[in-house]
Parts: sequence; structure tokens; C-alpha cells
Amino acid sequence: MKSTHHCAQLTPAALNATVSLVGWVDSIRDHGGILFIDLRDRKGLTQVKFDPQTNAALGAQAAGLKPESVIGVTGTVVPRPEGTVNASLPTGAIEIDATALEIFNLSDTPPFPLDDIGGDKVNEDLRLTYRYLDLRRPKMRKNLQTRHKAAKSIRDYFDSLEFIEVETPALFKSTPEGAREYLVPSRIHPGQFYALSQSPQQFKQILMVAGVERYFQIARCFRDEDLRADRQMEFTQVDVEASFIDREDVYRIFEGMLKKLWKDVLGTDLPTPFLRMPFVDAMNRFGVDKPDMRFGMELLDFSETFKTSSFKVFQSTVANGGVIKAFNAKGLADLTQGELKNLEDTAKSLGAKGLAFIKVEGGEWKSPIVKFFSDAEKAALTERLAIADGDIVFFAAAPWEKACAILGRVRLDAAQLLVKRGKLTIRHDDWKFLWVIDFPLMTHDEESGRYVATHHPFTAPVPEDLQYLDSDPKRVRGQHYDAVLNGMELGGGSIRIHQPAVQKKVFEDVLKIPVDVVESRFGYMLKAFTFGAPPHGGIAFGLDRMCALLCGTTSIRDVIAFPKTQKGQDLMAQSPTPVTAKQLKELHIATVIPQVDKPAEKPAS
Ligand code: ASP
Repeated sequence: MKSTHHCAQLTPAALNATVSLVGWVDSIRDHGGILFIDLRDRKGLTQVKFDPQTNAALGAQAAGLKPESVIGVTGTVVPRPEGTVNASLPTGAIEIDATALEIFNLSDTPPFPLDDIGGDKVNEDLRLTYRYLDLRRPKMRKNLQTRHKAAKSIRDYFDSLEFIEVETPALFKSTPEGAREYLVPSRIHPGQFYALSQSPQQFKQILMVAGVERYFQIARCFRDEDLRADRQMEFTQVDVEASFIDREDVYRIFEGMLKKLWKDVLGTDLPTPFLRMPFVDAMNRFGVDKPDMRFGMELLDFSETFKTSSFKVFQSTVANGGVIKAFNAKGLADLTQGELKNLEDTAKSLGAKGLAFIKVEGGEWKSPIVKFFSDAEKAALTERLAIADGDIVFFAAAPWEKACAILGRVRLDAAQLLVKRGKLTIRHDDWKFLWVIDFPLMTHDEESGRYVATHHPFTAPVPEDLQYLDSDPKRVRGQHYDAVLNGMELGGGSIRIHQPAVQKKVFEDVLKIPVDVVESRFGYMLKAFTFGAPPHGGIAFGLDRMCALLCGTTSIRDVIAFPKTQKGQDLMAQSPTPVTAKQLKELHIATVIPQVDKPAEKPAS
């Protein structure tokens, strides 16, 4: 049986027509012997009626149906009786009076309900084990469709600007200075490995040397990192690179991409240009390089106020080059002991010794530290933080970056506590885009005692800072930009170094990568740059994250057809798995399985 229509198509305009529909049995209702079936396909639902009074054999056949069976139905389009019209369905005014039924496949009873609400309540592992059933749920089907629409919108946009999509290899060489990689053993080169590409970064730069000028790719990237709700071991980037562009071009091109994407998928008009915020301001005001600007509670600096304080903790922090930062969690004075303890634990996990606070209740400042404050200090706090009854002010006293990071996290957690109390509204569709710019080119890594690239080693310095590359590398700003939305980094990129001598200097003199390592890892790139490399730059956006936002979900797993679990497993196909000794031998691999300590056996008594 072939369908003549899809399941969201038939209306009273088709009354009396003979039609055929195919799909899945969404639900079965028995009204005194007459069976009503909602037949479902990817477009929607149509109600089908089997009346044993008119066709006993057909009625008996339909009585054997079970939900999720796949069937084909032929029948006549008839109006639904008065009072049974369902205005919320496009097909809600008609039903099909069945005359023939073909059962393609009966279904076993699904292990969980396939409606949106019921399915959301079950354990995600069960949904992932039966992903083909989970994907039948309307919400998941819609997520896949939205993702398709997003990818198409992006492709159309870049095509209209004459960018071309070029595929680059998934099997690349190992570049261990980035994230941890997946290694792939070579069968024909014993003892040698490929690495799965962490991003097409080097290839896209080489494409610029190749004269492509405008490249994009919806590219799969692989990183062996610990998984979180917004991270997967394989994920998709909208990866772009162009020649002869500067930062202004980048902002314009990608604001255009996001504007079109939001319009095509959600019908929303994003205002452009986006706000631009230097990294230092983002840290100072929000304590993070990806600020969530949907709410205030900004951090303020009180180092000046407390530099001569009789509160020694604050005074000595400033004397030692640190800062005193504070913010007012407006209306959160009623937080519980448990909530306060959680905030304190958060602060401690970021290196704070504790979390100093002032609570204002009944006109009184309640705080273990307030007795040390002078009237002038109190007046400065009251005025700049607009302290009122019911507020709680949190402090951090530490080196600048640490103080920012501590309060940045406490600010986010405090906001959630306010949301829980109904005192603050943070809407997921309040789209507060911004560019964070002027990052430091290098960040000093305490652990290894050397500089590491803030973005990656191919990022070009801001031209006027180039002079400090040798003398004061941390003063050099990079031509690096992040596109940030509501506390998330959506994309990041940079204008690149295109002069081989500068690139070599960054590798060897600033990042202190040994000369032979530079040669073996990046030699080919430095060589390519000697044959006419144009100035170029680019960016990569996380497609999974953007789709999650467009679908209004917090987990990128909801917008990936077959994601891995937090433990990196595919529960449906069951991977990873051991492989045969023969396969390992062919790949010249011996595995060393870590010993798991077994509990000591009880001695026989
Ligand atoms: N390849 C970079 C990344 O994956 C993005 C870029 O610089 O274009 O973060």
C-alpha cells in the first residue's frame, strides 16, 4: 500500500475522497466496539475509524493492532461527528472511515511512553538505549528538523557570500598541545598513529594558502575530554576561514549568520551590531569571559576603599597586589544555611578561603566581618552597591583573576537561587549576544610555569602590542574574539599569524616549544607560509550548542541523533567494546587493562 496523503494533510476539503495513509499507530481507543486509531507519521496525526458493524473482518484485523505498529489504511474521508472535532489538530475536523488495512509490522510494547511529557520523565539511559523510539517523540522529531533547518540556513548564508564548503580529513596527525585526542593506529605503518581531528584549524589555514579565500565546513570534531551536558566526544562546528579580512569583517559576517539563523529558525529579529566587551571588562563586571547579561548583579571593585582598612584580611590582600571585589545579590538575604554553605563550597573550589558576606535584615547588617568596617567603608558599600533591606553582599579578596572567577561563579549560583524564589526572571529566549574581544594572547600557566596560547598558537597579536612579545608577553593582546550568548561561548576564533617568522617566534620563543618539536608538528605549515600566505582569519561556532538554544533545551544530547552518554558510551549499539586478538595483532597493538582492585576474599572459617 502506498500513501496518497501524509497524516497532517486531510481537511474537510477532501470529504468523501478515497485516500490511503501509512504510518505508526499512535493510540488506540475502543468506543463500544468501534476502534479509533490515531495514525502518525512525521507530519502529524489522522484519526482512523474501524467499525466492525460495517466490516467485521476488517474490525477483527484492527482489533489485533498494538500501539507503535506500522500500518497502511485505505478509507473514505468523513466529517467527525459534531462535538468531537479537535481544533488543535490540522486534521481535527475529519476522520478516515477505513475500508482496508495492511499491517506492515506489529510492534512490541515500547519500554517507555513515547509522548513528550511521559518520555521526559524516564531515565535518559533508557531513552538512549532505545533511541529509535525516543526519536519518534514529537519533541525529538522537531529537534532533528530544527537542526536540519539550522544547517541549511547556515549553508545558504555562506553560499550567498561565495564561501565554499570544503571537506577536510577526520584522520589527522597528533597535536598533543591542544585537548586530549583520539588516536587511531595505522595498520600499514606499525607503531604509528593518526589522531582524529580536534578541529580543521590547520587545514583551513592551509586552504587559505591554497587560494580558496572563503571556506566553510559543517565539520565533525573529536576531543577526548570529560563529557558534560554541553560537551560530547564528537561534536559539530560551523568552521569558517577567509582571506584578506580583519576583525570588523568577522563581526559583520557572523552577526549576519546569526541574524539569519535566528530569523529562519525562530522568526526572531536579532538586533545588530552586537555589544563588544574587552576581556578585562567581562572579567571585572561579570567574573567570567562569557558573561550572562540577562541579569545585573555586576561585580564592583572595592580595592581603593579597603586598602587602608582595619580589616586586615582585605587590607593585606590589596597590599599584596590583590583586589577586593563584591556584588549585591539583591533580595537573597533569606537564603538558607544549606544554600549559603553551597555558595561557600563553590567559592572554595575556586581557591577562596571562605565567602565573606553581609546580610541586611530588619535594617541591620548581619555579618561576621562588619564589625571591622569603618563608617566610610560602609557608606561606600551602601552607595555603590545600592544595598537595601533583604539584600546580601558577597566579597572576594584574592589576586584579580581569582577574585573575579570566584564571584563570577557565586553570581551565577545566586541568580539561580533568586530564580527559584521567583525574585528574578531569566528567560531562555532573552538573546543577549555579545563579542568578547581583546583577550590576552598568552596566559601564564602556573602549573608548567610557562605561557600557553589563550586561544591557539596561530592567533595574531594586536599589531600595536607586537613590540611587547619578547619583553612582556602577558601585555600582548590577541586578535581573538568569542561570540557569547547568555553565559555560553557560541563561537571563537581569531585573525591568524600569516608571517612564517612571527609564527615561528611564537612557537619557539614565547610558547617555548622545542625547535625539533615545532619542526615535526608544524614544519609543513611554516613551510606553506613561505609560499605566499594571505592575511586570514576565521572562527568556529558550536552547531550542537546553537541548536540546543534554538530548540530551548539545555542538553546538546537532545539535538544529536545518536549521542554518547556522560561515560562516552553508545547504549543503543553498545560501544565501546573489546575487539578480537586478530584485529589488535593486525594493528600492532597490545592492550594493558588496568587492574581493578577486587575486595579481599573472606578467609574460609
Ligand atoms: N579552530 C578553533 C577552535 O576549534 C576555532 C578557530 O580559531 O577558528 O576553537
